[in-house]
Amino acid sequence: MASRIAAGEVVERPASVVKELVENSIDAGATEISVRLEKSGVSLIRVSDNGEGMAPEDLTLAVERHSTSKLRTEEDLFRIATLGFRGEALPSISSVARLDIVSRPATAPTGQRLRVDGGRKEEVHAAGAAVGTTVEIRELFFNTPARRKFLKSPATELSHICDVVNRMALVFPAIHFRLQHDGRNVADYVSVRDPKDRLRQVLGTDIAGNLAPFSWCPDDIGIRGYLSVAPVSYPNARYLFTFVNRRYVRDKVLTHAVLQGYNTLLMRGQYPAVVLFLEVPYNEVDVNVHPAKIEVRFQRQNEIHGAVAQAIHAALKDVAKAPSAPPAFAERREFFHVRESPLPYAHASAAKLPSLNAREPFAVSAQAPAEADGFFSSMTVLGQILGCYLVCVSANGLSLIDQHAAHERVAFEKLRRQLNAGAVEKQNLLIPQTVELTAGEALLLERKLAVLDRFGFVVEPFGPNCFAITAAPALLPEGDYVQTVCRMIAELAEVDESEKLRQHLEERLATIACHSVIRANRKLEPDEMRALLADLDRTDHATQCPHGRPVLIEFSRDDLDRLFKRLV
Ligand code: ADP
Ligand code: MG
Repeated sequence: MASRIAAGEVVERPASVVKELVENSIDAGATEISVRLEKSGVSLIRVSDNGEGMAPEDLTLAVERHSTSKLRTEEDLFRIATLGFRGEALPSISSVARLDIVSRPATAPTGQRLRVDGGRKEEVHAAGAAVGTTVEIRELFFNTPARRKFLKSPATELSHICDVVNRMALVFPAIHFRLQHDGRNVADYVSVRDPKDRLRQVLGTDIAGNLAPFSWCPDDIGIRGYLSVAPVSYPNARYLFTFVNRRYVRDKVLTHAVLQGYNTLLMRGQYPAVVLFLEVPYNEVDVNVHPAKIEVRFQRQNEIHGAVAQAIHAALKDVAKAPSAPPAFAERREFFHVRESPLPYAHASAAKLPSLNAREPFAVSAQAPAEADGFFSSMTVLGQILGCYLVCVSANGLSLIDQHAAHERVAFEKLRRQLNAGAVEKQNLLIPQTVELTAGEALLLERKLAVLDRFGFVVEPFGPNCFAITAAPALLPEGDYVQTVCRMIAELAEVDESEKLRQHLEERLATIACHSVIRANRKLEPDEMRALLADLDRTDHATQCPHGRPVLIEFSRDDLDRLFKRLV
């Protein structure tokens, strides 16, 4: 019983089993690791490697609690170079599943098999096997139904496993990783020499293409990796990977340091893509804080924080100086950086106001159009200033309209009407656009194709981890939709249940709306200005949200009088 409770700490879900088994294979010096799953790992997880294997006597020891071959002296505990060291994983896993290990060291003519069923160990038998180890876990949590109940949807569990394999793959590019699910190849990362090639395999060429290498090694700390050149950014930290001494960790200090390095180059709520490999003397990191070793504690926390932030900052400065950024890339930058509010909840004054009094001292009052027009249409546009504001005379006085916010809001409301009526109107693309994804994202996307379809994006499978966008919302101007779709996938990845998904619909619409609108700093023709005002009148004002940027700022007579100190 005690072992089952302890197992909960290490073995939380199928992905934790995969992590422990793959770590063991890496510690055994394997150059080929193959993971096979059935039913998202709940029915079967099989990890095979070509590592050093175990001698028969070690095989029985391996499933004993606190038996590890990796710490020989007490001092070893303070310089842990292997991924495992606690001797907890195999016994924990074997207490909540059916375990079957076949292992053969290079020196032995055959392999040996050991079965453990819910903690009960059987005799070791000879078994034919290649050099290396295969660990098979069946029916995970068969004897702990409560834990089983806590598992998320199969797609989510599977994507967690993909995340685990991807992280390992990023930090061990020389190892060939294979991942199969229900007989299908999910990932096949052949061994590469250049780590940049591994980034391409794991993250896809779209994301990897935007990553620049960086490296800085002050004193005994090594800070290396790859970072996205601002302002390409992502709505969450999915592509922020931090490794300490080749161990994937989630650490607030490191994440904070990375974001601080980007400083003002990222907007609030936006994240970069960064793969950070930090090397610190082994005796200065405590990896014993968390059972799954995913958190660490640094002895020189402040120093490390400062060094990482500094390294990122300096790298970004260097990249900015390099004149080699291709033009296609420069275009993409803008794509992400225009939007400022999380949602186009812009204000617009809804009230119908009395028409201008003829005696009002506005030079343009005579041109104020008939009352029959809507509030916005009845404005007189004096012109556009600073490339982004329309200066208008309204019944109330002087009005400034932010053309970007206005367009965004109009597009958002149109999309919302279309979505509420069934689906966003789409148009077929003459040339389909291809999107490359990570293995985990591809699996998630497959299950979200119908959702994307409702948003007006028709996305079809197009080779391994590759998809083709064949139609896009009719409202979108022609262009590159890959970033929009990638962004939506990243956002959808955070949402599992369909109930929650509904809550997120409007936010997804905002993403599309943002990409559909006229960018700031574009000169509008007079008829475009009028069309925009007419559109605003047709836009539902009733559903305003008190947050976000305003579309309209009005200066009434009183406001102006106060500004000119005529009124106090
Ligand atoms: P730890 O990794 O902390 O030592 P584990 O419970 O994960 O503990 O593994 C126990 C022991 O089993 C390891 O120390 C190692 O000697 C052996 N072992 C497990 N998996 C493998 C493998 N794939 N190849 C060789 N030896 C292995
Ligand atoms: Mg281990």
